[in-house]
Amino acid sequence: MRKDNAEKHYTGLRTKMFFSFALFSVIVLAALWLFQIVLLDDIYRSLKLHELEKCADQLSETLMEAPSYDSFDEAAGELAKKYAVCFSIYDIQENERGKTGTCVMDKHVNSFCFIHNIRTDGIFSRMYREAKNNNGEWQEQVNLSDVFGKRADDAGENVIFVRLVEKGGAELMILFNNELQPLDATVSTLRVQLIWISVILLLAAGILAFVLSGRISKPIAEMSEEASKLALGNYNVNFDGGNCAETVNLSATLNRAAYELAKLDKMQKDLIANVSHDLRTPLTLIAGYTEIMRDLPGEATPENFQIVIDETNRLTSLINDMLEVSRYQGGTQVLKLSRFNFTEVIRTTLERYAKLREQDGYVILFESDRDVWVEADEGRILQVIYNLINNAVNYTGEDKTVVIRQTVEVADNRADTVLLEVIDTGIGISEEDLPLVWERYYKVNDFHKQANMGTGLGLSIVKNILLLHEANFGVQSQVGKGSCFWFRLKLSEEDTVIE
Ligand code: ADP
Repeated sequence: MRKDNAEKHYTGLRTKMFFSFALFSVIVLAALWLFQIVLLDDIYRSLKLHELEKCADQLSETLMEAPSYDSFDEAAGELAKKYAVCFSIYDIQENERGKTGTCVMDKHVNSFCFIHNIRTDGIFSRMYREAKNNNGEWQEQVNLSDVFGKRADDAGENVIFVRLVEKGGAELMILFNNELQPLDATVSTLRVQLIWISVILLLAAGILAFVLSGRISKPIAEMSEEASKLALGNYNVNFDGGNCAETVNLSATLNRAAYELAKLDKMQKDLIANVSHDLRTPLTLIAGYTEIMRDLPGEATPENFQIVIDETNRLTSLINDMLEVSRYQGGTQVLKLSRFNFTEVIRTTLERYAKLREQDGYVILFESDRDVWVEADEGRILQVIYNLINNAVNYTGEDKTVVIRQTVEVADNRADTVLLEVIDTGIGISEEDLPLVWERYYKVNDFHKQANMGTGLGLSIVKNILLLHEANFGVQSQVGKGSCFWFRLKLSEEDTVIE
């Protein structure tokens, strides 16, 4: 997949943008060309005709309402001026040669028009006939210079519109003449304008594509350069997303990823350092003691053998811890749930520390109100208790005191949960270290590592086990005063009755 991408040639953002803008400009230009050049004549003519119809409507309406032609005269004159049309109203009569008309009103605004130059009854009758056959309306475009020759040299295209109306039993025919301005000059002006607009639009598209793509692609190019450094293992990178929301979001995500990778890398390096240190110490001791015992038979004492055995055990438990953590990571752990006496498990664990108490003067106090039963994985809960007590013993203060307190908690009048607190009076943990102590291989500082030979795995195992049990857990600590690690388990159903 990656290889495919590398081999494929991709067009740059700038070129893509330029072509998009250019395409947009071409569409705009095509629309302008179509409406302003190609369809201009048709649109103009249909608008003119529409105007004529509107004028005819208004004129017929006013004519219908007017009591006499005299009272109608002024309004008709205004309409003729308003729409720049000439019109004549004829009263239609029948004579021996067919239909003919007597002009009852005449308004003239153009210098030369069709309706004032009809000389033959034939044309008149034809217009009447056409209108009669066509729902009382007829229209035609004529070039007056074609029809009237030299006389009409200045007059070009005109629209002739005829409408038949009835007023007071009489049949009236209104003839309109509207002049159509020649559009050739306009069209050629527009054509020149459009050529200029095309050049300007294409130039603008190029400049816009250049500026915008620069703004967008610059941060992306810079981020990609930083990302290639990251890919080579340089975590000291800074992604700058410029000022677009998307690139800013991307840069924030990449910065976070770089931070996490750096953290992971540091953890891995620490792990190798820790693990090699932790493995080396017992191995050195084992090698040293066995060599001494081989070379000096007098040194093969039970105490020295015990040291070798202890160190071997320590190695075994270290390796077991590591295996366990990786198993939790793989998510393959399942709980073997059973009902067991939780208080008894704590007591048994504490018995292991009896020797420690005797020899090194540790005071390990267990406070419990009563024996409680829980439903959990006994082996794993024992591991949790053991790890917490072990840490408390390792990190407690000079008074060498550790308190383990078990409290039954009540909810809704039923014994609900049991809270176990493991409290020491030691050095404590600073606020910034507190959330991190649960992470794999985390050790507060080298001093502890040296002093207590911890692996940094214990609390990670505790956390994983308690998470699997869906149990609450946490820690309160104050530097110099001590720590209290706690967790809470649900009591088994049979154990919830308060005695
Ligand atoms: P370790 O094997 O190093 O003890 P843990 O995961 O059990 O590993 O603990 C992680 C770190 O948390 C320890 O290295 C230690 O610095 C700190 N820590 C754990 N328990 C205590 C405690 N009771 N008091 C002070 N620091 C503690």
